[in-house]
Amino acid sequence: MSSLRRNGGHRAAALLCAILLALSACSRDAAFERQAPDVSVPETPPVTLPHEGSELAFAEAYPDPESVTADAAAALDDWCTALADRLHSVSKADCASGFELTGHESVHGRPITVRPVPASEQTPRGRVLLIGGTHGDELTSVSLVFQWLSWLEAAGSAYHWRIIPAMNPDGLFARPARRVNANGVDLNRNLPTPGWETASRDYWRDTGRSERRFPGDAAASEPETRWLVDEIEHYRPDVIVTLHAPYGVLDYDGEPAPPPRLGPLELNRLGVFPGSLGNYGARYLDIPVVTVELTHATRMPAADQARAMWRDLTRWLDSSIAPHVRQAQRRRDERASGG
Ligand SMILES: [Zn+2]
Repeated sequence: MSSLRRNGGHRAAALLCAILLALSACSRDAAFERQAPDVSVPETPPVTLPHEGSELAFAEAYPDPESVTADAAAALDDWCTALADRLHSVSKADCASGFELTGHESVHGRPITVRPVPASEQTPRGRVLLIGGTHGDELTSVSLVFQWLSWLEAAGSAYHWRIIPAMNPDGLFARPARRVNANGVDLNRNLPTPGWETASRDYWRDTGRSERRFPGDAAASEPETRWLVDEIEHYRPDVIVTLHAPYGVLDYDGEPAPPPRLGPLELNRLGVFPGSLGNYGARYLDIPVVTVELTHATRMPAADQARAMWRDLTRWLDSSIAPHVRQAQRRRDERASGG
């Protein structure tokens, strides 16, 4: 594909790509591939629940970025190079600083990376976990996270953020990109929701045993899922925002009032699925989950639309999440004082 481009065959390449895109077999950014090591499926560790009312300070829970070792720096540099190669809208400079290794890896040993952005105010209004690329073929869900990150860095925020642009790096870097992880598991059906053993089998049967929606052999069987369970347990987010495509709607699970819309995306609940993040976060752990379903998986929203989504999201944090966090804190304080 790159040699075609270098030889000036843009139109032929674009036409071929358009045809293949229609067959869901070509991704706009298919420009990266690397040799994957043998796949081995690790043992499933026991899943633990977050500690009620855990109040770890941001800095206590996570190491200082200054302490990044040379090995980690090299791994992050490789990751940034690969990502910039894969996605036209992400430059290496976009992830040149501030990203950290989570210590978790994909099935093929690719790092799951995180960008912590501490609140710029003395008293943070809450903690946000922002996740892109759960499904590897939804490329816009990765790119938009980087766009929002750049705005977040520029403006600062009253919230702590932890940002994971690519939860499923093996799916993202596969050629063509794949929804599922390297074990063929849909990571948004693999979380350990109550009754998963039965509900996931029923759900998968109802999909006609779709290869794109296999929930896995066991709940949290996948390393990427175990990273997410661990992340939620340690970070204790007050809200989770997860990006997907291409249904073009805003989905929401949780107790506080939902955002009525994010830019062009209107609230339209898609239902609850066994092993999904909306189910796991909101119904199991009481953490509201905003699911942003972008309109296209490989074409970025217009700049004004992306901006409007970000504006509506940050306004909703103030109108709905911040009061919810304050209320929860009051309840904890009352319990602690025996009131
Ligand atoms: Zn998705």
